[in-house]
This record gives sequence, structure tokens and C-alpha cells, in this order.
Amino acid sequence: MSANSLPLYADDSHLTEFDGVVVKSGPKFVVLDRTAFYPDSGGQPSDVGILRHAGRDVKVLKVVKRGLEIYHYLDADIPLNTAVHGVIDWPTRRWNMRRHSAEHLLTGLIETLGEPPKIFSDLEKLEYQPSGLTEEQVRGVGRRFDEVVDEDAAVRVYYEDRAKIDASGDPRKIGFLEKIPRSVDRLRVVDIGPYASTFCFGTHVKSTGEIGHLAELRLEDAKKGKKIVHFKLTP
Ligand SMILES: [Zn+2]
Repeated sequence: MSANSLPLYADDSHLTEFDGVVVKSGPKFVVLDRTAFYPDSGGQPSDVGILRHAGRDVKVLKVVKRGLEIYHYLDADIPLNTAVHGVIDWPTRRWNMRRHSAEHLLTGLIETLGEPPKIFSDLEKLEYQPSGLTEEQVRGVGRRFDEVVDEDAAVRVYYEDRAKIDASGDPRKIGFLEKIPRSVDRLRVVDIGPYASTFCFGTHVKSTGEIGHLAELRLEDAKKGKKIVHFKLTP
């Protein structure tokens, strides 16, 4: 049985409450017909929060996407066909979204230095190998980052048909496309002002002012020519 979940977070990353119906139920998990809960994917951790029904709050501990279904793992059972009111824990989502958007912006700013595409990144670091990054360059990126935050540049999210995307001669784009399953024919593009552009299905802030300034940006020389850029945002 398949129960596609309509992902409300894709259209509105600031939606914190919604109503849905349980279309699949098991021991301490449900799939809903629609959900604003973001599942763990793309390096962004899942949301937590509650599902309220019959005056009772059931905790959502973790959210995982399996195929087209979004599984909500709970601290209690909820029966099939129950109408629920979902509430996202906003401080957790916002913190994840700010750090994930910072990851995009740093990626874009470091790209302009002529670095090859990163090999890994998450909400705290970006890794390059091989890399010619210097401490001075990283300091420059930090200053530029904070300027872009002050500028409050808009974040734009839109869709492109995969067939129409011309990636020829762009190793970064080719690399991204290779990682996305062939079955996905419409790609979601996220632009942070003119500073960063990438395919991503995650949740993002609306403008760079929401990201906030850096509290720390540090370059680590790791083994085998790998360089790691560690970052922390101000809380
Ligand atoms: Zn993203």
C-alpha cells in the first residue's frame, strides 16, 4: 500500500501548524495525507514536535522519508483515519534551517575562490579535497558572509524541468545531477541572492538576514590534502 504524503514544508518553510489525517498507522508511527514535518534528508535533520488529537499530545520524535511516504515516529500509537493537528517545534526547525542556509551561502562564497566542488558538508562544516584554501581566504569569506547577512538578500526557491537543464561544461552541476535519482524529473532550485545556487529539497530561510552572523569560521588542515571549514552561527 502506498500513501503519498503531501509535503507542506516544500511550499512554505515557515508553516508551523497544519491539519492532517492518518493514512497509515503502525506501532508508534503514522503516515499522514499531508505534513509540514520535514524528514531527515539532504544533510538536514528531521523536525520534532507534536500531533494533537482528542485533546491529547503525541510526541513526534523523528521523521523519515521512505519512497513517497513520510513516516512520523511517535511516543504513542494513533489509529488509522484519525484527524490530527500537527505542531512543529519551531526553535529546532529554525535553528536547522538557519544553519542549512548558511551551508548554502558558504558553499557559494567558497566556489567563487575557484575551489573544486566540496566533497561533504553538514550543518557545522564543509570539506574540500584537494583544496588550496588558505586561512586568509577563509577570513575573507567570513567577512563577505556577514555582509550578505546584513544585506538581507532574498532566497528564491523554484522548479526546473530536468530535461531543460544544461549542465554541459559545469562539473558542479553534473555532479549534483548524478546524485539525484533518475525518477525525479522536476528539480527544486534554491538561489541565495546572486551568491549561491543549488538543487535542494530542504527547508531554507526567506532572506539572508534570518541566517544571522557567524560566531566562528575556522579552517582545519586535515589528512591527505583535505581541508575542513568549520562554522558556527550566533545563537
Ligand atoms: Zn538546501
